[in-house]
Amino acid sequence: MDIQTIGVIGAGQMGNGIAHVMALAGYDVLMTDISDDALKAAVARIDKNIERQVSRGKVSAEDKAAAMARIRTTLTLTDLGQTDLVIEAATERETVKQAIFEDLVPHLKPTTILTSNTSSISITRLASRTDRPEKFMGFHFMNPVPVMQLVELIRGIATDKETYEACLAVVERLGKTAASAEDFPAFIVNRILMPMINEAVYTLYEGVGNVRSIDQAMKLGTNHPMGPLELADFIGLDTCLAIMNVLHDGLADTKYRPCPLLTKYVEAGWLGRKSQRGFYDYRGEEPVPTR
Ligand code: NAD
Repeated sequence: MDIQTIGVIGAGQMGNGIAHVMALAGYDVLMTDISDDALKAAVARIDKNIERQVSRGKVSAEDKAAAMARIRTTLTLTDLGQTDLVIEAATERETVKQAIFEDLVPHLKPTTILTSNTSSISITRLASRTDRPEKFMGFHFMNPVPVMQLVELIRGIATDKETYEACLAVVERLGKTAASAEDFPAFIVNRILMPMINEAVYTLYEGVGNVRSIDQAMKLGTNHPMGPLELADFIGLDTCLAIMNVLHDGLADTKYRPCPLLTKYVEAGWLGRKSQRGFYDYRGEEPVPTR
């Protein structure tokens, strides 16, 4: 399967990172979102992020110009039907993702591979709602996409070998490394990471530590580059809560129950960096703990 054009659905923090690395690797990218502002912001962010790579001597000015010229945007989802590989990176909600695939499927060419960047939702279930479960798989980038080396590749129960190999070849062309995960809730990385973040929120909720002491303890005590609450803000608290709910529902084990304090932050719209407030307040010069 020769992949040359990539459709990216959702121009949020993951979508713009995916478009960035694909365009730099020489793929033509067509990105869509329901919000025109999100599309404009994503292109501006990609430009700024590649410019940073240029100033560090990692990318040439010519390669940057060529990459930017390979990125196109559209508000019409069905325009992505003619791409070779679709990577869905919209909001982490199953109903949203299902609706996207249902709308897109009638407009797809027969060879298009469909993938989702979901952090936790069943690939097999998403695939079953399309006309091509054998050409559907999980393509899970880490945040920030241009920096992180890993891509988790998740095969649904029906995914065929050609689809897996085509996606693996894309990961290799990006210069990244793939880890194969089976299709169980939250796969490998988030199955391990999210319960740790959730436990950090419980530690805060029960008053064992405050935001600063919890993050400092984990950074200096376990050599993590970021504390768990800082990392939760970076990922997005809505995404963290959604993943905990998938683990809780999918594995039916109370050890995965989301911390009520995490729910409260999400209800307040304090979603972390993307809304300027989460476990830290980012509106000033320095992040200030909110508890
Ligand atoms: P985000 O909130 O930054 O962006 C989501 C984007 O999807 C928004 O721009 C929104 O307008 C758009 N959107 C919503 N409904 C849409 C629709 N019907 N059609 C097109 N666009 C739509 O979220 P994000 O952090 O970029 O996460 C996106 C996906 O990537 C999720 O599935 C998430 O689990 C996964 N993911 C996130 C991270 C992370 O650290 N944030 C890491 C790996 C994977």
